[in-house]
Amino acid sequence: MKKRFLYYLLVLLVNFGISFAHGEEVENSTSSLNPWIIVPSLVIGLLASIYVFKRYYEKKNKKYVLFCLIVLVVVAITSYLAINTTYNNLTSFSRGPIHWHADFQIWICGNLIELEDPKNIFTNKIGSAEAHEHNDNRIHLEGLMKQREDALLGNFFESIGGSLSSNSISIPVNEQGSKTWINGDLCNNKEAKLYMFVNSELNNEFDSYLIKPYADVPPGDEIKFVFTEKSLDEINKELGAAP
Ligand SMILES: [Zn+2]
Ligand SMILES: [Zn+2]
Repeated sequence: MKKRFLYYLLVLLVNFGISFAHGEEVENSTSSLNPWIIVPSLVIGLLASIYVFKRYYEKKNKKYVLFCLIVLVVVAITSYLAINTTYNNLTSFSRGPIHWHADFQIWICGNLIELEDPKNIFTNKIGSAEAHEHNDNRIHLEGLMKQREDALLGNFFESIGGSLSSNSISIPVNEQGSKTWINGDLCNNKEAKLYMFVNSELNNEFDSYLIKPYADVPPGDEIKFVFTEKSLDEINKELGAAP
């Protein structure tokens, strides 16, 4: 009986160690471990084990020391995870996990350019866990947006291995790798320029544009990038139509 308790205790401690050892990995995904939360967690664990101590000590149950230890460890770990998750949610820009979408198209010299297809058949996406595309011309923002920067259009381009600025756009393309178009490059032998339209309106924020917080499109954003030699008036600004 005693051996089994010790075994569980050991398993718990090992798990606790592993979750801390992977702290850096966790940091990069949806949540981070905050060291100061150990203090309130231990206090809650201690209070729980004092309660158990009182009950079992009075009954003269000899296993009280072991019970108290187990209660301390289990309650402290559970409290830590609960407080940590709540803290991360409350302090994040998105105030908790989200799943937002925005549709986009990239038109270069009159041609619709597709992002590179996902190579990983298991995840079927390009980009990070928090900002990616599933071969659907759609920006997916998923999980915790820890800070405002995480929900910016520029962050999406960075996470898929491209970049966006007011005068250039760069994306990974099938078979050709990374392709970049810079203002001044030619379309139909004329100098071309990059335009961005959000819901058919000209927008000059480019990488610093904050993607709207909606799961469905619309009301989520429809973003159209047009690299063209045409003048602004000549461009069809609607998503889905050739510019
Ligand atoms: Zn997704
Ligand atoms: Zn999605």
